Amino acid sequence: MTTREQSLRVAVRELCAEWDYEPRCDAWGGSADPEFSRELGRRGLLALTWPKDLGGAAESNLSRLAVTEELLRAGAPVSYHWAGERQIGPTLIRHGNRELQDEFCSRLARAEISFALGMSEPDAGSDLASVRTTATRTDEGWVIHGRKVWTSGAHFADYLYVLARTSKGEDRHAGLSEFVVDTAAPGVHVQPIIGMDGGHHFNEVVFDEVRVPDRWLIGTEGHGWQQVISQLAFERGGPERFLSMYPLLGAVLDADVLDDTDRAALRVLTAQLTVLRSLSRDIATALDAGHSPVTQAATSKYLGNRLELAMLDFVRPLLSRCDGRVRALFDAAVIASPKSGLRGGAAPVMLSIVTKEMQ
Ligand SMILES: Cc1cc2nc3c(=O)[nH]c(=O)nc-3n(C[C@H](O)[C@H](O)[C@H](O)COP(=O)(O)OP(=O)(O)OC[C@H]3O[C@@H](n4cnc5c(N)ncnc54)[C@H](O)[C@@H]3O)c2cc1C
Repeated sequence: MTTREQSLRVAVRELCAEWDYEPRCDAWGGSADPEFSRELGRRGLLALTWPKDLGGAAESNLSRLAVTEELLRAGAPVSYHWAGERQIGPTLIRHGNRELQDEFCSRLARAEISFALGMSEPDAGSDLASVRTTATRTDEGWVIHGRKVWTSGAHFADYLYVLARTSKGEDRHAGLSEFVVDTAAPGVHVQPIIGMDGGHHFNEVVFDEVRVPDRWLIGTEGHGWQQVISQLAFERGGPERFLSMYPLLGAVLDADVLDDTDRAALRVLTAQLTVLRSLSRDIATALDAGHSPVTQAATSKYLGNRLELAMLDFVRPLLSRCDGRVRALFDAAVIASPKSGLRGGAAPVMLSIVTKEMQ
């Protein structure tokens, strides 16, 4: 680990120690505090990899990894900026025109705005090529019509990333394009979908003839499939795929209740975690080289999901020896646990991406 990575870790730990929040499992998936995100931005801890003239620090993805690992470890309230900083900024930098980059990147780097991801539809989740939301070209730009579901955080997001069909043909993967849409635009209707935990995290978003300026087309018309695949490497390849449950594990370690048998089981988890952290560094290095490490990201997501479930199995028999705080973290983690095998792509789909590489 470099000195810079170490100093970034210290900076995140200092901010988390100062901030008044309750550490949570799965905080990146559902714990939004815009002020916390903005403070991260003020301290130069967001958008580290972006160019300086777009609000970033032109640093490596390894620097960013140091920050994200620490935030996840601390269960910090990061979901306000997570999707925008993790994948929308990098997508705009990779594919967007200069006008689009200038309009959004610096504001994202300061967490002034939040983005939600409009990919999934009622019949297009794992199979994104089945997207039926359409974008039709007009003299002034585009008109979007259709429906997205499971759109996390759309109820507080200022903008949506939307994958839409811009032409129909034999090849389902052709004719998709990516857009930025203002959630306040006429014709955008955000309706809550209440989760099984009773919380409001998901939304259905209906687009009823929504007008979008031409400059908000991301990249090349008809190249949405190739672009979204590279975006998914950012979405799937980060440490949030195996560290969501870490605050629970950390609380159990702090409780100091392990016997020799438990410590042997912990060594197995530690070994798995070490391999996944190493894979994360490989993914970060590949991103720095301008690659889209799609297969490594799918591997990390699949194995990370298994490790998170194993962490719950490890903690379950220890609960009778732990205090109420650990039990509360465990209960919330169990309720959150079914999400991991689905969001960002279902587990069997990750496996099929991994095995395709081997054929
Ligand atoms: C917590 C959470 C947050 C989410 N946030 C967002 C968001 O912000 N934006 C967004 O666009 N989407 C979001 N999603 C949706 C998520 O991306 C989809 O749930 C996921 O892609 C799976 O799609 P689906 O729900 O339509 O299930 P389906 O694709 O219909 O899958 C249903 C079942 O079939 C299995 N299956 C599907 N295809 C295959 C295959 N090829 N081989 C073997 N088995 C298969 C799956 O494993 C699954 O068990 C979120 C989901 C969750 C759980």
